[in-house]
Amino acid sequence: MFHLTMSDPTTLSPAVTLTAELIRRPSVSPEDKGCLDVIGERFAKVGFNNERIDFPPVANLWAKHGKGAPVLCFAGHTDVVPTGPREEWQTDPFEPIIRDGMMYGRGAADMKSGLAAMTVATERFTKKHPNHKGTLAFLLTSDEEGPSVDGTRRVMQVLETRPEKIDWCVVGEPTSSDKLGDVVKIGRRGSLSGKLTVHGVQGHVAYPHLADNPVHLVAPALAELASREWDKGNQYFQPTTFQVSNLSAGTGAPNVIPGELKARFNIRFSTEQTVEKLQATITEILDRHKVNYTLEWFVSGLPFFTPPGPLSEAVQTAIKEFTGMTADLSTTGGTSDGRFIAPTGASVVELGVINATIHKVNESVRIADIDTLVSMYERIMELLLV
Ligand SMILES: [Zn+2]
Repeated sequence: MFHLTMSDPTTLSPAVTLTAELIRRPSVSPEDKGCLDVIGERFAKVGFNNERIDFPPVANLWAKHGKGAPVLCFAGHTDVVPTGPREEWQTDPFEPIIRDGMMYGRGAADMKSGLAAMTVATERFTKKHPNHKGTLAFLLTSDEEGPSVDGTRRVMQVLETRPEKIDWCVVGEPTSSDKLGDVVKIGRRGSLSGKLTVHGVQGHVAYPHLADNPVHLVAPALAELASREWDKGNQYFQPTTFQVSNLSAGTGAPNVIPGELKARFNIRFSTEQTVEKLQATITEILDRHKVNYTLEWFVSGLPFFTPPGPLSEAVQTAIKEFTGMTADLSTTGGTSDGRFIAPTGASVVELGVINATIHKVNESVRIADIDTLVSMYERIMELLLV
């Protein structure tokens, strides 16, 4: 086991050293713990214009190098999810160690290695191409793993009022599956949740004609929603899916018809759907089954999709050059901050390290991948801004 100490950096690459430095800062969401200061200082040294757009306790950095269009923006987050049970970690989650070519620590994969790779790639790129065309920008936040309200979402609102526009955005989230660069995301499904309350009339099970059982009322409607084929998806998206996540009714007594039923459901939807279309379908089904209900909606993200173009080509080329692989273009997985950037018209592609251990105990990243990712990010900058 190789413990990283302050005297070690000479033996480690700049990006690996920076990854360790960031992991040592316990930036559990929405804390930033000075990560943006560390990164911002390095940007300032190579001529970036740094602007902090903080909404305490959330820290945000908007940094720019160069001028005008096209604007290539790298995006990411400094916050991490909580460690979970400390006793299940083999080593301190905030004291990075290297063992068998892997670095262990909370945020190693999601996504402090990504941030370090972007930063070092930028230092290399701006040194070689101080007068590149367009603008190289960074949008970094400490609120991606939490409510995601005062982070990228708010910064994008601020930029829109100016107006500042992003043409191409590379999100450094861990997208790879088995090997670095095997999967990149070119879109994400949308996410729509509903909180359903079914109103019945409580009564004695022996006198059902005097009651109205909300379980019986809603069961056929839920069966129809659960078995429905919403769409077939398309070339880039899996079919839309509906899932009930919570269901409760009843007083606990075996002889009482409940007066109310509560259910929560979530729909992950493709670009074949819209929020309005989904809401109309669901209310039509509930109404047709004569359910008496109230329904609250939560839209946590609209689907987005970047059709093949200069950005996805540059990302594909960079991956091919350093790995020989052709990356799989995917839209699977959960949502990401790309959902707040894409609606402004930006092309968004996500490329980062292997995601096998993210959010788990003993989160880790292959240190060789960090350096390869630096080269990929630098190549993407060259392909689009030189
Ligand atoms: Zn992440």
